[in-house]
Amino acid sequence: MRLKDKVCLVTGASRGIGRAIALTFGREGADVAVNYSKSREKAEEVVNEIIKFGRRAIAVKADVSNKEEVDKMVETVIKEFGKIDVLVNNAGITWRNPDILGATKEEWEKVLGVNLLGTYYCIQAVAPYMIKRRYGKIINIASLAGIGVSIGEEVAYAPSKAAVINLTKRLAYKLGPYNINVNAIAPGLIRTEILSVGRSKEEVEKLLEEVAKLTALRRTGEPQDIANVALFLASDESNFITGQLIVADGGRFNFLSHSL
Ligand code: NAP
Repeated sequence: MRLKDKVCLVTGASRGIGRAIALTFGREGADVAVNYSKSREKAEEVVNEIIKFGRRAIAVKADVSNKEEVDKMVETVIKEFGKIDVLVNNAGITWRNPDILGATKEEWEKVLGVNLLGTYYCIQAVAPYMIKRRYGKIINIASLAGIGVSIGEEVAYAPSKAAVINLTKRLAYKLGPYNINVNAIAPGLIRTEILSVGRSKEEVEKLLEEVAKLTALRRTGEPQDIANVALFLASDESNFITGQLIVADGGRFNFLSHSL
């Protein structure tokens, strides 16, 4: 068991990558707080799965873009479990928009609110408890889009993830003296519901097929591929790694076209 008796808070854990991370952590011996903002039933299903592993788990509702809700969520987790060893900032949204000059104030505010401010609010609420105990692992789910090499049909999403990568490095430096590791993961294309935003089922399948061909491994990523990286970063095996971005994309060398 690589996370025996650790307490982990995973945001956006009702489905997709967050769900896989929460289940993997539970299977490895952690007690898990499963955050969601809308999908209560799905979050409760994840909780029940973790309880079956013999661990404790709770579903905690909070829109991560709302600081008051985040503070309340963290208080609830501390009250229930007494500590937080691992925070995974996974909750994220996208906003499909092929018009690079056409992003609205609403698009910017919603996407930055969840992806960037949500990440910051959670760290702001959790880090003081980690500082007190001189122990913590913070894992931010960024994106290949945040490195600026995969150009998708959105405007605010990629900059939000670029900012998460920058925040990861700054926080790693500032929190390092307290034995807190802060790292980020940049997933490539992973088969989850987020791909359906602004796309039909057929369009999603076509996208998955096309991007699989762009990877060295010639396949699409699955949520478990990212959960495995998160497990490494949450475990003590990564104690000397901080401020890093781990890319898990199946080996995407030719980001923009087949023909260069
Ligand atoms: P997903 O299936 O759409 O899951 C998103 C999760 O975030 C859901 O559990 C959702 O729960 C939660 N969420 C959304 N808004 C929230 C909010 N304001 N507060 C709290 N929770 C919220 O997408 P996913 O692919 O697993 O995405 C997880 C992370 O991976 C995101 O940060 C995404 O940007 C990143 N990522 C994904 C890919 C990919 O190809 N799939 C690639 C790179 C990066 P509710 O329904 O309860 O809101």
